[in-house]
Amino acid sequence: MISKGGSEALLQTLVDMARTASPDYDVLLPLLRLLAKIGLRDKKFGQKALELEALDVTLILARKNLSHSQNLLHCLWALRVFASSVTTGAMLGINGAMELLLKVITPYTQKSTQIIRAATEVLAALLKSKSNSRRAVNRGYVSGLLKLHQDWHSHDTANSFVLIRRALLLCLKHIANLRSGREAFLAAQGMEILFSTTQNCLDDTSLEPVISIVLQILRQCYPKSPLPLVTAISAYTFPDARSITSDPPHVLTEEDFEEDGEEEEDKDSDSEDVKEEDDDLETDVIKLSSKPGLDRPAEELMQYQAMCLELSCNFEELEFKAGDDLTFDETQYTNHHHIPTPVSPKGRCLNKDQISWGHEREATAQTSVLSRVKMGRSNLHLTSKNGPGISPHQNVQSSGFGLSSSGSKSSSIQASIKEDAWNIDAISCPRMSASLANSTQPKETAELMDKLLQTHPKRMAFHDPYLYMAKARRTRSVADFTMMAFPDFWGHCPPASAQSMLERKCGVQRIKIFEDIRRLIQPNDVINKVVFSLDESWPSQDITADCLRFFSKFESGNLRKAIQVREFEYDLLVNSDVNSAQHQQWFYFKVMGMRAATPYRFNVINCEKPNSQFNYGMQPTLYSVKEALLGRPGWVRMGYEICYYKNHYRQSTAVTGGASGKCYYTLTFAITFPHDEDACYLAYHYPYTYTTLMTHLDLLEKSVNPKQVYFRHEVLCQTLGGNPCPLVTISARPESNSADHLEQFRQRPYQVITARVHPGESNASWVMKGTLEFLVSSDPVAQLLRENFIFKIIPMLNPDGVINGNHRCSLSGEDLNRQWLSPRAHLQPTIYHAKGLLHYLCSIGRSPVVFCDFHGHSQKKNVFLYGCSIKETLWQAESTVGPSNLSEDVSYRTLPKILDKLAPAFTMSSCSFLVEKSRASTARVVVWREMGVSRSYTMESSYCGCNQGPYQHIQWLLEMTNSERACPLDSFQGLQFGTHELEEMGAMFCLGLLILELKSVSCSHQLLTRATTLLNAAEESLDHHLQRDA
Ligand SMILES: [Zn+2]
Repeated sequence: MISKGGSEALLQTLVDMARTASPDYDVLLPLLRLLAKIGLRDKKFGQKALELEALDVTLILARKNLSHSQNLLHCLWALRVFASSVTTGAMLGINGAMELLLKVITPYTQKSTQIIRAATEVLAALLKSKSNSRRAVNRGYVSGLLKLHQDWHSHDTANSFVLIRRALLLCLKHIANLRSGREAFLAAQGMEILFSTTQNCLDDTSLEPVISIVLQILRQCYPKSPLPLVTAISAYTFPDARSITSDPPHVLTEEDFEEDGEEEEDKDSDSEDVKEEDDDLETDVIKLSSKPGLDRPAEELMQYQAMCLELSCNFEELEFKAGDDLTFDETQYTNHHHIPTPVSPKGRCLNKDQISWGHEREATAQTSVLSRVKMGRSNLHLTSKNGPGISPHQNVQSSGFGLSSSGSKSSSIQASIKEDAWNIDAISCPRMSASLANSTQPKETAELMDKLLQTHPKRMAFHDPYLYMAKARRTRSVADFTMMAFPDFWGHCPPASAQSMLERKCGVQRIKIFEDIRRLIQPNDVINKVVFSLDESWPSQDITADCLRFFSKFESGNLRKAIQVREFEYDLLVNSDVNSAQHQQWFYFKVMGMRAATPYRFNVINCEKPNSQFNYGMQPTLYSVKEALLGRPGWVRMGYEICYYKNHYRQSTAVTGGASGKCYYTLTFAITFPHDEDACYLAYHYPYTYTTLMTHLDLLEKSVNPKQVYFRHEVLCQTLGGNPCPLVTISARPESNSADHLEQFRQRPYQVITARVHPGESNASWVMKGTLEFLVSSDPVAQLLRENFIFKIIPMLNPDGVINGNHRCSLSGEDLNRQWLSPRAHLQPTIYHAKGLLHYLCSIGRSPVVFCDFHGHSQKKNVFLYGCSIKETLWQAESTVGPSNLSEDVSYRTLPKILDKLAPAFTMSSCSFLVEKSRASTARVVVWREMGVSRSYTMESSYCGCNQGPYQHIQWLLEMTNSERACPLDSFQGLQFGTHELEEMGAMFCLGLLILELKSVSCSHQLLTRATTLLNAAEESLDHHLQRDA
């Protein structure tokens, strides 16, 4: 009917009929009903009504029929569809439609509610037009609308007229899109009125349509303000780096925040799918397929010969050097190393497994990575299931430590030290001997530390607090940290059980936002006391004062400011990256002075990313010093009532160069601490410091049998901050120094792995830890890998960023993973030399089989790879440049396919092989294009966890009956990663490299035979991996 001109015909009929002296309402009413129906489907209906002059006649009809309810109602229905077009709405406004409607819309009544509803809905539609909104503001309708809202809200106790109330609020919402509208709203006490009318019915589901609009209005009208910081630029500056443009102090006005129609839905029901942007794809075939020349003089590459000693080394020397070569540390600490040194290699493996894979593993001896393929923890939790049957909800709501109490084997420690004897404040872990002298109680601190260390559980694999302390003294930070964080120093053992994702309760975000708005409404209830700041001095910390005490000046620490807002609530601001004014996301700080069993709310108010896994089941991590001293040292996922949403803070437009001020986001979470007067550490993710890495490498080196494992730890280069960036080489020692054996050794293909270019992605370091420990282990798979490859590993590409608590950048404020196209030695030394080393390997015909850079992903779950493919990129971009004439082998897909079958956390479905323009200067794309490495990858591990594969459900949950579980199985969406799962991924990655080799045509007969024997002996689930691709 619409396509045949039905709308026009009916509208014309309406106009003709309405213009007659006495219209026949018996025909007119059905006509108006029909128009209202068609108008819903005809997108151009408003325009057609305007052109045919149907607006005026309908308005006149309505005016005439103010006291004839049926006639009026029909006119309003027609007006409602006319007004769905903004231009028509504006025209109706000019012709006095709003005044007419306001005559119809009355305070609460039970009569003519159909008419009132229709009139309110027409008014709401009209106010979508800015000119109407402006008129409404000028005529003072805002306070009238607020009064109507109050009246209907207070009288309609049975919630019979929710739709009228919703339409009234929509009127206010549209008006609030205008700056003048927001001003009028605030002046009319709109915030107070809406807040007080709705605060007591937040969880009334029948009022859902009302409350969601109220929330949108309150958020929209909340006056925008700058962050409570002196400057957005980092509190730490590094003078030697290239200076960045600084922002002059600027007083913000409301103009800075002019952003019409900005609104954000309640995230409670949002889907987390991230949209891929196709216009970022590189569609230039020349760019995709050409190989750029060398980015430096060829002769410069010779310096990397010294980093590839394995290619020239004569093993007489090595035999002599292996024992004490490159020993970085003081021998006095070697007495304290607790690396198990069992007699047989098998024993070593077992011992290592026990420790690094968690206590519960002692019962289930595991000797090979093969037995863990796609098994996840399922075979492990038979033991822990017998432990305390604590539901994850108790875990969530209370401390989370209950789960690990099965680790009571260390009760001897517990007995040796009485809890009340601990002076938690005094456990300050001074890093420098100099700081001891400055400390108020130097001697006591040192003695206490010594006493504590005697109780240290000496079973933590590849950790030693004494060695850590010694290494920490050599770590150079911009702020010259003098303290160590207890968790880094003391060490971490993963909890015995995996932790499921946090179930998001509907409405949590709404309650939190109302609490934020309450601050504006009831300012006298807000304490607003700065209790910690890197920028300014704050009132001297009185131990007896009833507030938490914060601290962040230690390696990888990040907290800039803490403000107590209510008795148990704190606003936290994280520091931007050194020499930068952005990238606030990572946090890691110490908090003291808490009461047990009291919920504390923390709000990190200057986060930058628009969404976060904190909205989808992820919890921050917590480490309790008292728990550690009770024999349970470890980071656990903690916190509840977690959500992440846009707040009212804005960056001033002066800083952004006139662009709309950047928004900030709040991460809010509640924590119930496990002990009174504890010292707890809270972090975005499991911390892994540079000093941890250096300690780890030292202990790894000392753990290997130099007669079997070829392990070299050397320095790639110095960073801007003066820290050595380590480079590790791992292979198997040749069986002898016979020419044959030496030749086999030198001809082994290279595998190059890097990690942690982004300092906030500590998950990448845990994956790397798993990779390194696996590669030096006596696992038969690791042995085969060593005998067939030379691994070149740069475990931390951005040590300075890690040390100084950055999230993204280096000391020069640059994202180092955007510098691979043309890195410069003096600005991005680690990238320059990592690339140089790769260029060198290429230049001697030894390009790596696989290059992989480990990262962390904040938006997605699981672990996956990004690779590079010309064909897939062009196909995705629907490029007309026919990929048909391009030949590209699909070998880049093999490794991710293998990992999909092997690794519990890995999923092929999230992998992508597209080359984006914005990624042109990343390691993955540059190594692929410039070095021609077709298997060049980024491996992304979620900060959150897994929602597929064996980790979708936690085994001990599956084994519980429905009545034992607090809620249905479906509500446990999956597993949050612990360090265990991340380390396991590192080992699985290595296994994947072996299978990849077995599938390749170049695989040696000898390796194939040996691997087949090994794999056949393993579980049959592996058999199919051996079948080569056709
Ligand atoms: Zn990254």
